[in-house]
Amino acid sequence: MMTTNKNLPDNNGFFGDFGGRFLPDELSKIMAELKNEFEEAKNSDDFREEFKTYLKDYVGRPSLFYYAEKLTKELGGAKVYLKREDLNHTGSHKINNVIGQALLAKRLGKKRIIAETGAGQHGVATATACALFDMECIVYMGEEDVRRQALNVFRMELLGAKVVAVKDGTRTLKDAVDAALTDLMGSYKDTFYMLGSAVGPDPYPQMVKYFQSVIGEEIKEQCMQAEGRLPDYLVACVGGGSNAIGMFAPFYEDKDVKLVGVEPAGRGLDTPDHAASITKGTKGIIHGFKCFVLQDDKGEPLPVYSIAAGLDYPGVGPEHCFYAESGRAEYGSVTDKQAVDAFLYLSKTEGIIPAIESSHAVSYGCQLARNLPKDKIVVINLSGRGDKDVHEIAHVLKEYM
Ligand SMILES: *Cc1c(COP(=O)(O)O)cnc(C)c1O
Repeated sequence: MMTTNKNLPDNNGFFGDFGGRFLPDELSKIMAELKNEFEEAKNSDDFREEFKTYLKDYVGRPSLFYYAEKLTKELGGAKVYLKREDLNHTGSHKINNVIGQALLAKRLGKKRIIAETGAGQHGVATATACALFDMECIVYMGEEDVRRQALNVFRMELLGAKVVAVKDGTRTLKDAVDAALTDLMGSYKDTFYMLGSAVGPDPYPQMVKYFQSVIGEEIKEQCMQAEGRLPDYLVACVGGGSNAIGMFAPFYEDKDVKLVGVEPAGRGLDTPDHAASITKGTKGIIHGFKCFVLQDDKGEPLPVYSIAAGLDYPGVGPEHCFYAESGRAEYGSVTDKQAVDAFLYLSKTEGIIPAIESSHAVSYGCQLARNLPKDKIVVINLSGRGDKDVHEIAHVLKEYM
């Protein structure tokens, strides 16, 4: 496996002005060790082979590259393909990353796994990998999220994980990350921290990118096979940015392929209720790395909002910040209302119920395709399936009517 932008990040974990490691010395040392171990694993044929085998036999890869013919006809513009990460075991792209990190933990002889989770998606994926690899699993989750996401808490427990309710701060995702880092400081000798997106201190953004790059690598092959050429546009939703960077990075050097990230505009970019960190944020530091952050005058992260819990984070992966600043990728945004409309539209036209996160990419990708000539190719990353969102959508529709 390889990505084509070999110079990113630099030796200090920077993507241009973004990323790095802004941590107390003790944690910084732990990250430096992790980085060495990751480098060794990446260069090991056995490790790469084992990762590939689990992706094939357990996750069910390669995921489909599906020509949405009916959708394409209705839109009347560019040809639309969907990359079906929703068909992976556990229903999203998150499993790619946790399998990779679990294999790394196994290689390091670490049997105790900790993770943070917001809505519970990454927590469930982590608990799944821990069940498979027979590892102890502790998931930190804000008390408020534990209450809101009772079903995912039960799922994690079914899979053998222990869920710890975090009672600090706003009792949400940010506090769960802090609790996990605190645990790691005292426990790193036998503990591995599984981070759920392409964020956090170096080496996490490059590590998560490495494990998710299978998405873009498969698209390259599948599009060559189906169309005899590379796509014109790649579209993905951006929360922390892992499904998007996994899709984009393998195309970095293919400058004719346009990369489009879609952020959550929530109730509107002119309201405080969104989580569009690249579009509306300013440079700052959050959770040990530099990126565009939605922050107040004192540098404290603002409370952010999106209908999609998986996109609801005040920071964003450093590599996306670099792509945005250098112009390699473009970042747009989609409101809750537009995402819900896309959720309904894809369900009806193709018989595919997308995750509400992915619906952001579907909305933007469809608008794009509609206005392009018929000989163009747009690929939308369907990062997850929407079964988890059906309840919330039913509730929202009642409000609309
Ligand atoms: C978590 C999640 C996301 C957002 O995370 P990224 O790291 O930005 O990919 C998007 N889609 C689904 C289905 C998710 O579960």
